[in-house]
Amino acid sequence: MRRRDPGAPRTAGPLAAVVVLVAGLVISAAVSVVLREAQRDRAGNVMDQRHQMALAAVRTEIDRYRGLLDTLAAGFSTRAEPSWEDYDVASAPLADAGLLGAAGVAYVVPVRTGDVAAAQRRWRERGASGLVLRPQGTGDEHYFSIYARQLTEVTGPSMTGVDLVTVAQPAMAMEDARRLHRTTVSDTYVLLRDRTLPAGGQQQSLVLAAPVWTRENESEFRGWVVLGLRSGDFLTGVLATVGQGHLGGSLIVTNSDGSRVTVADRAVPGEKDLTRSSGFEVGDHRWTLVTQADSGRLPGAGSATPRLALVAGAVFSVLLAWLVYALATSRARARDQVEVATAELREAEADSRRQAGLLGAIMTSISDGVSVVDENGRFLVQNPAARRLLGMEVDAHRGPRDWQEQYGVFRPDGKTPMPLEEMPLMMALHGESPDGVEMLVRNPGRPDGVLLSVDGRPLDASAGLRGAVAVFRDITDLRRYEHDLSIFAGVVAHDLKAPLAVIRGHADLVLEDLDMSGIAAGAPEADEIRDGLRRITATVDRMDLLIETLLAYTTSRHAPLRLESVDLTRTAREIAAERAAHPGDRPVPQWSVSPLPPVEADPAMIRHVLDNLIGNAVKYVRPGGTPRVVVSGERTVSGLVRIEVADAGIGIPDAEKPRIFESFHRTEAAAGYAGTGLGLAICRRIVERHGGEIGVEDNPGGGARFHFTLPAAVTELKEEPVVDTDQDDEAVRAALDRALAERAAIMQAGMLPGLGGFEPDTDPRDEAPVGTSLSEQAGLKRPGAAAGS
Ligand code: ADP
Repeated sequence: MRRRDPGAPRTAGPLAAVVVLVAGLVISAAVSVVLREAQRDRAGNVMDQRHQMALAAVRTEIDRYRGLLDTLAAGFSTRAEPSWEDYDVASAPLADAGLLGAAGVAYVVPVRTGDVAAAQRRWRERGASGLVLRPQGTGDEHYFSIYARQLTEVTGPSMTGVDLVTVAQPAMAMEDARRLHRTTVSDTYVLLRDRTLPAGGQQQSLVLAAPVWTRENESEFRGWVVLGLRSGDFLTGVLATVGQGHLGGSLIVTNSDGSRVTVADRAVPGEKDLTRSSGFEVGDHRWTLVTQADSGRLPGAGSATPRLALVAGAVFSVLLAWLVYALATSRARARDQVEVATAELREAEADSRRQAGLLGAIMTSISDGVSVVDENGRFLVQNPAARRLLGMEVDAHRGPRDWQEQYGVFRPDGKTPMPLEEMPLMMALHGESPDGVEMLVRNPGRPDGVLLSVDGRPLDASAGLRGAVAVFRDITDLRRYEHDLSIFAGVVAHDLKAPLAVIRGHADLVLEDLDMSGIAAGAPEADEIRDGLRRITATVDRMDLLIETLLAYTTSRHAPLRLESVDLTRTAREIAAERAAHPGDRPVPQWSVSPLPPVEADPAMIRHVLDNLIGNAVKYVRPGGTPRVVVSGERTVSGLVRIEVADAGIGIPDAEKPRIFESFHRTEAAAGYAGTGLGLAICRRIVERHGGEIGVEDNPGGGARFHFTLPAAVTELKEEPVVDTDQDDEAVRAALDRALAERAAIMQAGMLPGLGGFEPDTDPRDEAPVGTSLSEQAGLKRPGAAAGS
């Protein structure tokens, strides 16, 4: 596979974004340019229309002025000399005609120098009151304005009586009109009336002159009707009407001498990017109309579209570029994440391979067998140790029902086939977590049998698999070793107890001899000897007790349980009787033993438990106090029997309660009392081996209240006479001996627990049974102390 350049995706994203941005901006600019061009074209068209309109307006207006003048002149052509009233009536319509830029209209007549006075008089008579004709120049003919009508508000000197012959431009126009018999237009100049205005207020003007000829047979020239026109006002008015404030421009007049004079100039707001120019003839003059406008302001021509298109395009391009960048880099980012995740996955895979390898190595190398089954009990995993311990390969296709037969699984006695529901793997499949389940496997692969201790656990469902795991180890040798040790302990105990018994016996004999020898009590030597002998016997008793307890401790763990129905009432009363018969140096205890429900238990062991608890109840009382012991019991709802032994003794602090069941633990308060700290540990072992529980709480009236549970009796009780507490010493002695014999029987069982199916490596010593009393071993008769504390 070709390797991709890792840097490529990082640069590709920004690059693509830049390309998109640039392309977007270019396209936006191009679109904007195209739109601007189109707009310019449209603006050009609009400008053309406006210019043509302005041109038409200028020409129409001038033509209208000329028409009005012609009409006025024609009106005067019928009369010889019009009166002021005639003139006033005839010229009145001009005042209302809205003539743009028209300054005034005047009736001008030619007068010879010699006729000036007569003409003045004559015109005064015709209504020109106060007319004073003021001849100018040196010529013979003067052009006097006789009547004048102002057409604008602008006031100035009266124009009547003025001699226009010296003002070249109107004079020339008038002469042309007279010569050509038509209305003429003058060159440009500043009207006489405007010459008194400040220079800024003066503007170029011109006159239109219409000749007045009589219409008689021989037409005679009478004068002129002259209209003064201010060009600036004229053009401004026309453009304002046509251009609606958006059109500016100028009017250029080519005068007779060929000079071009800009007679009017109207500024336009904004940029003058559109200009149109047209020339046209007005009379004998050529006028040029130049119009200007700002395309952006011209109605119907300009719009913000190109700019908007540019801005919108730019914004869109930026957004698109950003999008492309985001998409491109997000892909790159996603790819990076995938790469990181893949790397992590690879690492995790390598790690789990390592772990699996390690686990495999551990599974292969450990000596404990490990088997894993799925939820249906099919074997999934079996390590080499498991194979070796089972003596065969497991069959992955066979279910739990065949396990017992296939692998030869028995209870520790080696005879009873292990029930399926007691097998740890099966228990674990049902959600339990059994520990230390012992079972014996014997099959063609392990013909001698192997004792296994098995722990089972349900597989955690979070592991993705439901099922169970079992870990098992070979405890055959351990049991053998314990068995040997137990025998060794028994032998040692026996060997230790024999000399002790001899010492105790002889000490007793010497004491008896001393009493019989007649040495008076109180004799110093005799008392010393007695003291010494009593110390010897007390020490021997303590040592005997210790050995007994240690033996009981050992046997309580391993002695096989011989379950039968036990009449606890009788057992408790026998123990009470023993205690009552031999209170030692304590006051005689007060007893209360209620009828107790029978239990299914090993009689010797349960007797030991009761004896131990009652013994403690009697022992742990305050010095001088009377022991009070209450033994009671009842059936519980769960089918067990709960026994209670309450006393009124020194009690047990709360903090010590859980610990007193541990081996060798004694409370501080027990310091002054004889004991080994093993009694309750033995009791717990025995009770737990029966499937029960033991505990202690405060006795409400003071003291301690021990309780333990045992399975209720399932078999018939053996009928035996109940031993009454009032029986004599013989009866007590018999009961005591039976109890001790039962204890010894535990040791004599020959087979230790878990090795029921094996022959012991060595035969147990069958000398005097361990557990017999010292007096019996010494061959002496002596009331013995009960086993336990
Ligand atoms: P031992 O009595 O030989 O010391 P046990 O195992 O029988 O050993 O008892 C352990 C400890 O529990 C005792 O040392 C004593 O402190 C305490 N104990 C047992 N029974 C009683 C009781 N009835 N009242 C007060 N303390 C007790």
